[in-house]
Amino acid sequence: MTLNPNAKMEETQNGTEVYSTDPLIVKSHYDIDYIHSYAQDSEFFMSLGKKKIMGSKCKKCGYVYGTPRSHCMMCGAETEWYQLPNKGKVHSYTTCFFGSEEFLPETPFHLILVEFEGANSLFMARLIGADADDIYVGMPVVAKFKRMQRFLPTDVYFVPAPEALEAGKQVNGK
Ligand SMILES: [Zn+2]
Repeated sequence: MTLNPNAKMEETQNGTEVYSTDPLIVKSHYDIDYIHSYAQDSEFFMSLGKKKIMGSKCKKCGYVYGTPRSHCMMCGAETEWYQLPNKGKVHSYTTCFFGSEEFLPETPFHLILVEFEGANSLFMARLIGADADDIYVGMPVVAKFKRMQRFLPTDVYFVPAPEALEAGKQVNGK
């Protein structure tokens, strides 16, 4: 039998970060693995790894979505997958100086809405390789795909098409 009146719990070597004492507010680490399904969006994300941008086309009215959706917002019918071209044009653009935590270190960055030939709606993506002053509506852009796929919308991004250089000089007068 062991009875030890001097028994002691081990003390931690790490302090606790205290933000306030009234009320007591301390910092605790929180970490989870989140397992989720891409469900009907799976094809879009899998295709980015094959350098394909998949939109969708309404089986009934033929409306083509630059950003896929399972059902048509025009007539309500089911859509089918539709491969979009890897080239498009800038429909509109903006430069972000603020963003969510993941993108904050990358600010400022450009977001564009891409117009694809044959598609009735647009696709939002990052544009790199251009200064804000050099981007213009109608600028031809080409899709690029990350080699190490993360199954995120950022697996695809756009760069100016080679022919954008000449056209840009005329538009921007540079
Ligand atoms: Zn439709």
